[in-house]
Amino acid sequence: MPLLLLDLDNTLLDRAAAFRSWAEDFAGGLDGSDADVAWLIEADRDGYEPREAFARAILERFGLGGTAAIRLADDLHRGMVDRMTLDPEVPRALTQARDAGWVPVVVTNGTTEQQERKIRHTGLESSVAGWVVSESAGVAKPDRRIFDLAARSAGLPLLGAWMVGDSGPADIGGAHRAGIASVWLHRGRSWTETAFAPSAIADDCAGAIDHIVTG
Ligand SMILES: [Mg+2]
Repeated sequence: MPLLLLDLDNTLLDRAAAFRSWAEDFAGGLDGSDADVAWLIEADRDGYEPREAFARAILERFGLGGTAAIRLADDLHRGMVDRMTLDPEVPRALTQARDAGWVPVVVTNGTTEQQERKIRHTGLESSVAGWVVSESAGVAKPDRRIFDLAARSAGLPLLGAWMVGDSGPADIGGAHRAGIASVWLHRGRSWTETAFAPSAIADDCAGAIDHIVTG
């Protein structure tokens, strides 16, 4: 039974859409402009900007303090989970993969509480065999040990596994280090890394899974 490893944010779940929705409401509540929304999206760096530094930058740009600062910290800490939805194409593709004998396991960098809330809130929990979160694992992508841990958690060999993700360095670089095949979700970007490359490129997660399952 082959192992199907999948990134969470902006792979299984559209974190970018959830963040945009929050940014629009946040800026709108402060009579902000489209430029403010664009600034929030840019400064968030798909969630890679450390949350405390990001919060400070927002407070400074919008001249906020007091209760607004507390509410902002809470929003950022909760990771827009309430705004995340699961594209029905994803569980459809995952069911098809499982029917074909694949074992899907989430491999995600982040805090355990936040990532598990996303998996449960969206109902993704019932479509995957399990998950490994970097905070609990003590190692993060692209370290190959997190892929080893995912394989061990499923009781399967890493050999023959595939990785699906949107991050070149973390997901595809990690798959490269682990010696497994990968599909990169381009999200409108071009592949520029020369040291390694994905085995395939896909428009979205369901398309990537379909590519792997139908070979
Ligand atoms: Mg991602």
